[in-house]
Amino acid sequence: MISEFDIIGRYFTRPARSAVLGVGDDCALLRPRPDRLLAISTDTMLEGRHFSAGADPFKLGHKALAVNLSDLAAMGADPRFALLALTLPEANESFLENFSRGFFGIAERFEVELIGGDTTRGALAITVTVIGEVPQDFALRRDGARAGDDIWISGSTGEAALALANLEGRVQLSPAARAACEERLHAPEPRVELGGRLRGIARSAIDVSDGLLADLSHILEASGVGAELWLDKLPRSSAIASCANTGIAQECLLAGGDDYELLFSAPPFKRAEIDEVSGDLELALTRVGIMVPGEAKLALRDARGEPVPLPRKGYDHFA
Ligand code: ADP
Ligand code: MG
Repeated sequence: MISEFDIIGRYFTRPARSAVLGVGDDCALLRPRPDRLLAISTDTMLEGRHFSAGADPFKLGHKALAVNLSDLAAMGADPRFALLALTLPEANESFLENFSRGFFGIAERFEVELIGGDTTRGALAITVTVIGEVPQDFALRRDGARAGDDIWISGSTGEAALALANLEGRVQLSPAARAACEERLHAPEPRVELGGRLRGIARSAIDVSDGLLADLSHILEASGVGAELWLDKLPRSSAIASCANTGIAQECLLAGGDDYELLFSAPPFKRAEIDEVSGDLELALTRVGIMVPGEAKLALRDARGEPVPLPRKGYDHFA
């Protein structure tokens, strides 16, 4: 059986690059860059709650960091460092090997340094903390939306939730649709470059983790504005568009969650700039509504402008 310190040394220690001191001491040491704010966030994944027993450890390593990078992206921050608190039922080397490959695969792609963490024994739980930097006054906050702003969404929503509905036997999918949806569920791609490019363009932003409607509502409450969302304009992947159960497909699209797309608002004079960003990143950016004056209420409208009743809101651990 390998020890806690073997685990840390073998699987989670890489030479420090820009950190002054990385893994191995009581604390890591970092030198913040001048005129930047630190952006810090943490997210936990629990077996039985966020993933099921026997989940692919490579994808768990990827996803644990990806969902955290998504929060940095939503803030317009550039990722720099990560900490990993890992609770393991046993020192399974094949698990650790694959988990760390998944983790470092995405860490290297976005130049994130693992600078510390904690390793304990217990029911499988993975907590990652990320540290990023954003130039002062350029953070994309939830409270910056104004009436008249366009509402934009990157990529498309609903596929991760559709994969879950399929795994639970609530909906049938073609093999191709199932593969596409499961990839979105187990290996989400954080919109890190987009977050950086939206600095100075977007007035507010959030990443869609709890569902499009729920996360848009968070912006409305923080900003004190209302919104009109256009159902027919929402981007639909082919899996969502071709799903025979249109009720479930629409619920996934609007309230599914685990999408890790960026939902943001920007004034109309930024439209050309946003289209340019979309072209540069080869990532669809779609205008799906408008912020309106008044209380923080959300109106969903069909192609004729008629109101559509809202489905249940997104995920809440305690509701
Ligand atoms: P301490 O007892 O001082 O908290 P630990 O024995 O928990 O220190 O950790 C030793 C070193 O290894 C520390 O630098 C810590 O940040 C790092 N570390 C522990 N677990 C992990 C992990 N899973 N990933 C990365 N670094 C880790
Ligand atoms: Mg410790």
